[in-house]
Amino acid sequence: MNNIAIYLRISVLEKGNLGHTEDTINSQRNIIKNFIFNDQELKKANIEEFIDEGYSGSTTSRPGLDKLLLKVKQGKINCIIVKDMSRFMRNYIEMGDYLENIFPFMGVRFIAVNDDYDSSKEVQNGTELDIQFKNLLNDYYSRDVSEKMTTALLTAKKQGKYTSGTPPYGYLKDPEDNYKLIVDEKVAGNIRYIFQLILEGYSLNETAKILNSEGVMTARARRQEIKGYDAYANRWESTVEDTIWSHSMVRRILNNEAYTGTFVFNKSTKSKLDGGKVIYHPKEEWVRIYDNHEALISKETFDEVEEILKSRHRKSFGVKKKKYKNSPLATFIRCSKCGYKIRFNKSSNGKELVGINLYCYHCRMLEQEEKLPHYKELEKDVFEILKDKFHTDKTEKKKLLDEQKELYDKNHQLLKKKRIEFENYKFGKISREDFLEIKNQIQESEEENKERIQAIDEELKQAGCIDNLTEDIVRKYIKTIYISGKGIERIEYQ
Ligand SMILES: [Zn+2]
Repeated sequence: MNNIAIYLRISVLEKGNLGHTEDTINSQRNIIKNFIFNDQELKKANIEEFIDEGYSGSTTSRPGLDKLLLKVKQGKINCIIVKDMSRFMRNYIEMGDYLENIFPFMGVRFIAVNDDYDSSKEVQNGTELDIQFKNLLNDYYSRDVSEKMTTALLTAKKQGKYTSGTPPYGYLKDPEDNYKLIVDEKVAGNIRYIFQLILEGYSLNETAKILNSEGVMTARARRQEIKGYDAYANRWESTVEDTIWSHSMVRRILNNEAYTGTFVFNKSTKSKLDGGKVIYHPKEEWVRIYDNHEALISKETFDEVEEILKSRHRKSFGVKKKKYKNSPLATFIRCSKCGYKIRFNKSSNGKELVGINLYCYHCRMLEQEEKLPHYKELEKDVFEILKDKFHTDKTEKKKLLDEQKELYDKNHQLLKKKRIEFENYKFGKISREDFLEIKNQIQESEEENKERIQAIDEELKQAGCIDNLTEDIVRKYIKTIYISGKGIERIEYQ
């Protein structure tokens, strides 16, 4: 027969803000009871409730929890059910310890309803009990809290467990092993893309704008997709900010060491006083496990980006202007295959600009990338094309103006001739038929001349002295330049 312990907890903070939280003792109880009721086996068990009201999940000693753990020790409980893991324990290291080591050893099944966790359905839940685990248990029962913490940290360190709630954007919990992070292939590219944009010289804000304009999925949207519902929808602190990219979301990603494969913990704890206020620890107290999971970003790139952000902070002026200063085509080039804007990757040898590499991010992500021509070559080609098409020097201009003047004169003469022929007809010197034929001929010539006058107008309007390529000149004539690996495919003119 099963002896089930239901553990319910709310913190001081929640107690004081009940208007804002739906996670009351009652609602936790309802969710758990509903779960039990729908399980053929659990429904027949004895149920005992353990409640802690006004205690934070990071508080180690709680009357309700203490009572429950005592009963576990006495072998009187063989199943614990909570709404979610954080209700049971906020400290993920310890939580991991319980799930991985202590409960399996005690033969206790642990269920966290909303986390979809059931230890009886987990693989590798510690059935092979080795000496390491036994030592850990000795520690757990004999030493004081701080020592226990150290041991737990060491264990977590050794095992590299990811035991906190939601994995960072770009990672998923391994379905085979809930404490392992695996790469979320669907969005991992977005993380690399964000780092890339910063390296290319975009600011946090510009990066966010690019992500939004390209419809890059946000972390929240991805979580919703994975879970099948929006966990944030009913939270009072939920803002529109999470549904689109913002500079602070971009910054959070750039600052997250998890992307280098490092697992950082002990960044903060919740105060046992002050209603569970979060206390941030100084960086020296952070504990890191390197190579804990697959890295999305190299350590070098991560550091480089951190350096860029720091230096921008120091001199936040003139960054943008500098970026395009020597590349007038920058905003006009698109990929002929997919239509996306071509990106610039400036390579430097540490001191000076060595070259500008062009690539299509979109094609790269689809693994259809072509090696694009070098930027300077394109510049040369565009310059030749513009010169050929639009360059007009002074003598040419004068010739055009002279031709136009001549045409105006010709039309003036034609008008005169038309009047004379009309008089000839009126005074009976020529027949009506003859007059009409002459009149049509005159009008035809007039039309031809007018057309040529307009054409010259157009030509003069576009005529310019193109002796070097600046962004202004490019903008005057060109809308878009489509390129491929072969070079310029076509140009859309203004
Ligand atoms: Zn492309």
